[in-house]
Amino acid sequence: MKILPKKAISRLNPYKVCPPPLHGSATPRGTSQCMAKLDANESPYDLPAEIKRRVFNELKRLSFNRYPDPDALKLRTAFSKKVKLPLKWITAGNGSDELILYLTLTFAKRKVLFFSPTFAMYRVIGISCGAKAINIPLKTGFRLPLERILKQKDASIIFISSPNNPTGNCFSKDDILNIIKKTNAMVVLDEAYAEFCKDSFLPYLKRFKNLVILRTFSKAFGLAGMRVGFMISHPYIIREVNKVRLPYNLGLFSQVAGRVALEKSHFLTRSLRTIISERERVFENLCRLNGIYPYPSQANFILFKTCSCSDKLYSYLIKNGVLVRNLNGYGGLKNCLRVTIGTKMENDLFLERLRSYEKKKR
Ligand code: PMP
Repeated sequence: MKILPKKAISRLNPYKVCPPPLHGSATPRGTSQCMAKLDANESPYDLPAEIKRRVFNELKRLSFNRYPDPDALKLRTAFSKKVKLPLKWITAGNGSDELILYLTLTFAKRKVLFFSPTFAMYRVIGISCGAKAINIPLKTGFRLPLERILKQKDASIIFISSPNNPTGNCFSKDDILNIIKKTNAMVVLDEAYAEFCKDSFLPYLKRFKNLVILRTFSKAFGLAGMRVGFMISHPYIIREVNKVRLPYNLGLFSQVAGRVALEKSHFLTRSLRTIISERERVFENLCRLNGIYPYPSQANFILFKTCSCSDKLYSYLIKNGVLVRNLNGYGGLKNCLRVTIGTKMENDLFLERLRSYEKKKR
């Protein structure tokens, strides 16, 4: 007898990531080497060697046979100093993905609301938790559809990613404030890319009891491999989420690496400055290319539209060692690709491949 999943789950597709060809290894199609992995909005910069060494030195002294601290106290303490909020306002997750899951499990009674295009996991997790996933298209210019959001009276959670993945823009502060003030729902502001726009809703947390902020170390901090995320909100929300949180959800390695990276976070200043100036340079270069229309970005990636079929350009880039994200058909986008800002060399390679594609077409 075949065991069937719940109906809602059987209709879902697994979150697809193009198998990550490690630098220098064969691409999925085996056609060339992946020289520039620009598909997952990771930082192109690994932790500086001296910080890694410190992580390893600390790890050496710890017992691997024991469970890690279930409350990630040292990591949370370091984060609470950074955001200048008490510990009880913070919980840590195995990436912010896990925290989206916990929030949905804990608070999604009826509908979860999000926009298209946006980060795919709000929908997947919403449906997996048995909620009705309401997807409202963004307005022209990727603006928030304020009136339609506020009409949804029985939404339990509204997910807003700002800067938004994959469009790259920050939403209007007034629009977000309006939603927080006028809705009965919990507003989850996903600030995965906040470091790249230097704006945040953290100062508003104490004023609004329905506001939850998510942060991740997978992007600016360059710790995607460690899976460290944080949820910051009023303690009454943290208390409920902590009932659902799995014991020991954050491994020993993640706790140590996250804390040491926080304590030594001066390394961030330089890499952030470089990524932001590279973003502007890549944007200007994209604007100069025929048939390529980039959207302004305040994150570490750029969405761009192609005048012909983006599937062909995507395949050409893969064949020539550059992996980006193909968003053709995703969330109402047509012929769009998303490129993560890499090192100067990776960005140059990407731009060079675009130019050679253009020449080939002529
Ligand atoms: N939120 C947004 C908007 C994202 O783009 C991502 C990752 N792509 C995440 C959350 C998940 O990040 P993490 O690695 O912390 O799970």
